Amino acid sequence: VSLELDHIAWLRATRTSTGEVRVGVGDDAAVVDTPGSAIVVTTDLVCDGVHFCLETTTPERVGRKALAVNLSDVAAMAARPVAAFVSLLLPQSSPASLARDVTRGMRALAAQFQVPIAGGDTNTWPGKLVINVAVVGAPDDQGPLLRSGARPGDVLLVTGQLGGSLLGHHLDFTPRVHEALTLHSRYRLHAGLDLSDGLALDLRRLVQESGCGAEVFAASVPIAAAAHRLEDDRSALQHALGDGEDFELLLAVAPDVADLIVGDQPLPVPVTAVGRCVAGSDVWLVMPDGSRKPLPELGFQHQ
Ligand SMILES: [Mg+2]
Repeated sequence: VSLELDHIAWLRATRTSTGEVRVGVGDDAAVVDTPGSAIVVTTDLVCDGVHFCLETTTPERVGRKALAVNLSDVAAMAARPVAAFVSLLLPQSSPASLARDVTRGMRALAAQFQVPIAGGDTNTWPGKLVINVAVVGAPDDQGPLLRSGARPGDVLLVTGQLGGSLLGHHLDFTPRVHEALTLHSRYRLHAGLDLSDGLALDLRRLVQESGCGAEVFAASVPIAAAAHRLEDDRSALQHALGDGEDFELLLAVAPDVADLIVGDQPLPVPVTAVGRCVAGSDVWLVMPDGSRKPLPELGFQHQ
């Protein structure tokens, strides 16, 4: 178990009264009840040398991504991002241009999604660049979309295509904010999350929170062209199941709703049925010949 997952488990096991925090640690974002409405809050921290490499990418792209991953988590709650807060921990030796370039990259995406950067903090230290972004979001009238609402019989849908994000998508992806809001306003969604650590791992998280199992149909998984271009010992399907940072949406909906969405194709990106929720707690991969085997625990585990 990674340090991060171990700490999340400890936080959940030892937390005390949640008061106005309707959903705390364990979903894509927290849900906090305020008088008259609820807000969602998410935060993410990325470090040079771990989540990105300033030697091989630009500060603008890094800044863009730091905001984009947070917008993706707000999208996963089917909420509209309202404001972003950005804290930078700059290497002591860095030029003044570094913070500005990071911010430029962030602002371009913030403008695209009309999310003001409303505050934050800036410090220096003897290490590498660290960026923390927090985003506050407003759920729509149906309330936030949680991980915990899936039930046996639900169909699993994904947006876009999966795998091979390492070849560039992980930096340049578009957070599925508009897609999530469109689907949530038009169709009844039971559960959802954003695919940050790979379908195999994130699906496990969704069904764990929902108290069910799942089947993924190997022949139905939409595989990105980049997953075919990666030449290593993994198949394109394995990349699509296991690669992290797709930042697509995984949704659970009733079968009749799935038929509607797949038929309507209401988004600029395809929506594909990739499996279904089943009773129990196991997660299966169903092969084209109908046989099934446990879905391998592929996936990007954070250190
Ligand atoms: Mg997430």
